[in-house]
Amino acid sequence: MIIDCHGHYTTAPREHEEWRRHQVAAKGLVRQVPPPPAISDDAIRASIEQGQLRVQRERGTDLTIFSPKTAAMDHHAADSEANIRWAEICNTLICRICRMFPRSFVGVCQLPQAPGVPLVNCIPELERCVRELGFVGCNINPDPCGGYWTDPPLTDRWWYPLYERLVDLDLPGMIHVSSSCNPNFHATGAHYLNGDTTAFMQFLTSDLFDDFSNAQLHNSPWRWRGSLSLGPIPRIGAGEPRPLQKLLENVFFDTCVYHQPGTELLARVIPVENILFASEMIGAVRGLDPETGHHYDDTRCYIEAVPWLTDIDREMIFEGNARRVYPRLRSRLELQSRL
Ligand SMILES: [Zn+2]
Repeated sequence: MIIDCHGHYTTAPREHEEWRRHQVAAKGLVRQVPPPPAISDDAIRASIEQGQLRVQRERGTDLTIFSPKTAAMDHHAADSEANIRWAEICNTLICRICRMFPRSFVGVCQLPQAPGVPLVNCIPELERCVRELGFVGCNINPDPCGGYWTDPPLTDRWWYPLYERLVDLDLPGMIHVSSSCNPNFHATGAHYLNGDTTAFMQFLTSDLFDDFSNAQLHNSPWRWRGSLSLGPIPRIGAGEPRPLQKLLENVFFDTCVYHQPGTELLARVIPVENILFASEMIGAVRGLDPETGHHYDDTRCYIEAVPWLTDIDREMIFEGNARRVYPRLRSRLELQSRL
């Protein structure tokens, strides 16, 4: 079985994001926001069958851990109340897809974060997604300000109410920024890389996992072609970096790397136990690589071409590690296999 740990609903019918634009434009005046669009099952089915399901079949992957489009989370664009409504709508759409295609997709939720708003704000929607919709993880935006980083670091107690619930619910979080509203940072080439690298360095130089030894965080710090942010661990300022080995009990890295040399470096630097197969298909890095003729996001090819990985290594990357990091997915798959 091949589990893709990183997919988003980037092919949603146009009216879905159009509604968000109306909501943002209303600037909190609820009466000016139209009712959410009634998206039919047929429209959802068409968008998935021609989109992510087609790609799964072409590339021979089986199950995608699937969340709303992260570039559209836009936590910086509206207030907390509006973001709660937007998260509910996005997550409900994901739930409908997972129920229509239960063998191909399992849900991960968008949190209704907002700049400067305490994380307890996110707990009711998180609980709904896990307990009522059957989701197995959540996306955590380390910078809900969209490139200005005005909220405290991920290792600050500010974030603890969220981590406490994640541990209670046996739920991993994927560190994932949204779009950049800071013109200094290109969304994919700079803001995404910066978000993942910043989060990683915050974890490395803190005692966060002494307080949350069971927390599982999933990071994809190697986005842009040729860009690798984790070589020798830099020593910075007063915070003495923790040994990487210790961090690997709680932090996992996915294969959204998008080229062969990067994938090989990932497999050299990070133990196979900490690598999760992921493609973010039809996502931030789509299109054909002119040098190879391959789709950049067909990341299965890169893993299969790493010469020193054994069949057991590949089984861990493609399936075993995901079952370990996403405990609710494991129980769900075990239940499915008994049916
Ligand atoms: Zn993503």
